[in-house]
Amino acid sequence: MTARIIAIDGPAGAGKSTIAKLAAKRLGYLYIDTGAMYRVVALCAIREGVAFGDEAALGKIAARVKIELRHEGDLCRVFCDGEDVSAAIRTPEVSAAASPVSAVRPVREALVAQQRALAATGGVVMDGRDIGTYVFPGADCKIFLTAGLTERAARRAKELEEKGYPAEAGAVALELLQRDARDSGRALAPLCKAEDAFELDSTELSIGQVVEKVLALARGDRGGAGPPAV
Ligand code: C5P
Repeated sequence: MTARIIAIDGPAGAGKSTIAKLAAKRLGYLYIDTGAMYRVVALCAIREGVAFGDEAALGKIAARVKIELRHEGDLCRVFCDGEDVSAAIRTPEVSAAASPVSAVRPVREALVAQQRALAATGGVVMDGRDIGTYVFPGADCKIFLTAGLTERAARRAKELEEKGYPAEAGAVALELLQRDARDSGRALAPLCKAEDAFELDSTELSIGQVVEKVLALARGDRGGAGPPAV
């Protein structure tokens, strides 16, 4: 039987969104990009001039804004109070802001509640940092998707350039490292591999190969890897 909740966690730039979106499409599941939700709160904080240390104000934003993930064909569009912010949340400025904003307890509480509610209706593929460890510790399929730093930086630099942001691989690598360090080092639901997650290194794999592996894992086929060590 195919897993109903597929949790994909991992560091920045590992390809989680790309893979999760394609896997969800193949399974007819809902794809939930939790990073986009933290990005929306960060975008609102920037626009409203709220300091990243102002936990109460950030919590109010997270509780107040209506975040929608709308699926249109192959695209997953992100709306904030009815405004399409799909492009606005992908700027380098918002990427940098999302990390400190996501470490704020009231922000996480508001968004995690929404993430759990979104999965109540049926099969989901959810990607983020804490899905297998905190949002759905009981998920029936957990994957920790990684890739080498050089590869992650090259992929992210290409993505940024396609969106019109000049990107140099060395600077992008540094940004990814800093964000991962902050996400792993925070007290609340840090980025880490769940004990029972399957670690999938995508450095040498094509997108299609990674998707097939995810689908196999969702069916319970760990490819001879056996049960996770406990
Ligand atoms: O996945 P993405 O790069 O869009 O996530 C942006 C930021 O949101 C991450 O760097 C992390 O700080 C935060 N995040 C999180 N928990 C999640 C998803 C994202 O803390 N489940």
